Amino acid sequence: MTPKSSNCLPGISPAIRRVVPAAPADEVMIEQLEFLLEHAQGGDCGCSQCERYRYVRAILLDAFSEPAKCAAAAPAMKEEDDTVPF
Ligand SMILES: [Zn+2]
Repeated sequence: MTPKSSNCLPGISPAIRRVVPAAPADEVMIEQLEFLLEHAQGGDCGCSQCERYRYVRAILLDAFSEPAKCAAAAPAMKEEDDTVPF
């Protein structure tokens, strides 16, 4: 006779529920960013941390980069208003 109430999550071990909850992702990201920034202050030594710094920096600063990609991808605007036949 197996009590069903104690087995509501059959695939998950009861021990997992006692594991300390993971730190919020935001805090982890801030800590990682601070770590990478601190490392990058010493200059680019070419290690994996520097590589991660460049990667994260490119992503975070992407919104502030010049819209060269958009200009190249989008066709030039044609001034159709000036060519309206009359
Ligand atoms: Zn480095």
